Amino acid sequence: MHRGILALALGLACQASDALSAQQRRLSVYISADMEGIAALSSTDDPMGPRFMTREVNAAIAGAFNAGATRVVVNDAHGSHANLLQDQLDPRVTLIRGSLKPYGMMEGLDSSFGAVLFVGYHAKARSLGGFAAHTGSGIVADLRINGVSVGEGGMNALYAAWYGVPVAFISGDTLAMTQLRALVPGVVGVAVKTGIWDRAVTTMSPDSAQAAIQRGVERALRGTLTRPPTVTRPVAVELEYCTAIYAEVAEGIPGVRRQGYSTVGFTTPDYPAAYRLIRVLYRHLQP
Ligand SMILES: [Zn+2]
Repeated sequence: MHRGILALALGLACQASDALSAQQRRLSVYISADMEGIAALSSTDDPMGPRFMTREVNAAIAGAFNAGATRVVVNDAHGSHANLLQDQLDPRVTLIRGSLKPYGMMEGLDSSFGAVLFVGYHAKARSLGGFAAHTGSGIVADLRINGVSVGEGGMNALYAAWYGVPVAFISGDTLAMTQLRALVPGVVGVAVKTGIWDRAVTTMSPDSAQAAIQRGVERALRGTLTRPPTVTRPVAVELEYCTAIYAEVAEGIPGVRRQGYSTVGFTTPDYPAAYRLIRVLYRHLQP
C-alpha cells in the first residue's frame, strides 16, 4: 500500500519535472538564418544583404524574447556563414559564425532547445517560380530523404525533429513556406517575397518584412507548437545531381551507391550522420 502511494507520488514528481523541463526547453530558441529569402534582395551579392539579413534576424530575436524566450542562439547559415553584422546584432543572443562546421545550417542545435525558427529561407532546387531555388548548392537537382523530396527547410526540419525540437516559424520566399508546410503543417510562415523567375522578385520593404517577422515569431512561440515529424530509421537518402560527373565521384565514397545516371544513395542508422554526409556530397565534391 505504502509502496503504491510512493510509486504514485514518484510518478507525479516525474511528470512534474518533465513538464518543467519541457517549459524550460520551450524558452530556448534556435534560429537558422539564410539570405536568399531576405526581403528586398534580388541577389545575395547585393551589398545590402548582410544589413537586411541582420535586421530580419534581429526582428525574429525580438519576437522570441517578447514571447518569453530566455536563450536565443543564432546560426549564420548562408554561404560563408559569416554574413550577420556582429556589431548590429541584438546583444542578447549567442552567435554561431563561420564555415566549415559539421552540421552546417543546424550546427549547435540539440535537444535542449524548445523551438527552431528559419529566417531568410528559399525554395528547393528546380522549383518553378522559386527565387534562387536550390538545395544546399547549385549541383543538386533533388534530395530525397526516406523517399520524400525536401529542400533545405525540410532537411533542416528533420534534423530538428531528430532531437525532438519543432520548427515553429519560417520566413522567406512564398515557395519556401509552402514546401515546408508539406512536412510541418502547423508552422507559422511569413512570406516576405515571391520569385518571378530565378533572379527577380516581388518583395515587401525591409521595414514591413521585419515588423511581420517579429509579429509572426511572437505568435508562433505563444501558440501551440506542432509535434515534429517522425524520422524513421534507418535513414535512406537519395541525392540526384544536375550532371552525372558528381555521381561518378561520389560513388567512390564507401557506403555511397550509384542509383542512376546522376543519382547516388546511402543509408545511415541516424539522422545527424545522414545530414553530415549529405553536406559532404553537395558541398565538397570537386570532380
Ligand atoms: Zn540556402
